[in-house]
Amino acid sequence: METCWVKKEDWFKFIEAIKNKNENIYGISSPQDKLSLGKVDKPEDIVWGQIRTPQPLKAILCPSREVVATYPQEEDILKELKKKIFILGIKACDLAASKIYDRVFLEEEKDPFYAQRRANTIIISSDCTSAGESCFCIYMDGKPYPEGNFDINVAPVSEGFIVEVGSSKGENLLKENLPSKAKGVPEEKLAERDQKRKAVVKELEKNNKDFSLKFPYAEKVRKNYPSKVWEEKAETCVGCGGCAAICPTCYCFLLRDEGEEKSFNKVKIWDYCQYPSFAKVAGGANPRARLVERFRHRYLHKLDYAPLRSQEHECTGCGRCIDTCAGKIDMREVLTKLSITS
Ligand code: SF4
Ligand code: SF4
Repeated sequence: METCWVKKEDWFKFIEAIKNKNENIYGISSPQDKLSLGKVDKPEDIVWGQIRTPQPLKAILCPSREVVATYPQEEDILKELKKKIFILGIKACDLAASKIYDRVFLEEEKDPFYAQRRANTIIISSDCTSAGESCFCIYMDGKPYPEGNFDINVAPVSEGFIVEVGSSKGENLLKENLPSKAKGVPEEKLAERDQKRKAVVKELEKNNKDFSLKFPYAEKVRKNYPSKVWEEKAETCVGCGGCAAICPTCYCFLLRDEGEEKSFNKVKIWDYCQYPSFAKVAGGANPRARLVERFRHRYLHKLDYAPLRSQEHECTGCGRCIDTCAGKIDMREVLTKLSITS
């Protein structure tokens, strides 16, 4: 079973069957018409389509605050993470980010907490069926529909879903919970899916027509290291770190001891390179003491240093940093300004 066609009612029964056997069901839903990623109670509330949520996938796979060691030592601190987690409706930009997280926390250094959670996670993603004002995935080497890193992907079409299997976990799940309901995909449904995908790409092009964006950006940001554009664009930055907090690919963290001498926890907390103390070293020296240096560093890290180190740029064009920025800074404008001035 690789790609199949499933009627709407059968798909909802499939999700219901998963829900009845598992308690950790996360998904995209839209309470009060606002997209949101979190635990879902009713399978019919899950949104298959639309766009990514304000919350990034990392918030589930690698929470902003996690106790990673206790003193005195607890017997099995990982025990809570042994239950299955289902994440439903996730979009391509978050899946691209999960590939970066897997590299950092499974391949480069193994984080046992992330590894445990990841091993128990099943992701059922879905195509975007529209584009957000700030979305620019197609200008970051992405697509508005998943091409990998999922267990199952669904593309909503009339009367049902085109269901694509991406892993043996996904295949087994379908076999166990959707026996004999999956059919070969009718040609007209495939054509409808492709047409819908093209329409979203067109919408993205329209939304971004005022910017000059051309992937890759490594050379552009490197060459422009001394550019005045950084000063100009960082003028409204308040150093809040919101851009890094909301970014699905930012993975920096710090470890802090909380408690007393005889009983304390080691806690892992997200950390942000926009904070003045982030790069500070012993003796008080700080290679990025000025706000503009930290602002520029974010672009250089994502678009130049990361590809040099791992052949992967670390921005998926999800646009969340644009939506959240207290200083109304738009990454697309920064990259456009660098193109014009270089
Ligand atoms: S969200 Fe905006 S204001 Fe806050 S640190 Fe990032 S760029 Fe600066
Ligand atoms: S830098 Fe901004 S657009 Fe790129 S992945 Fe992070 S939040 Fe999304």
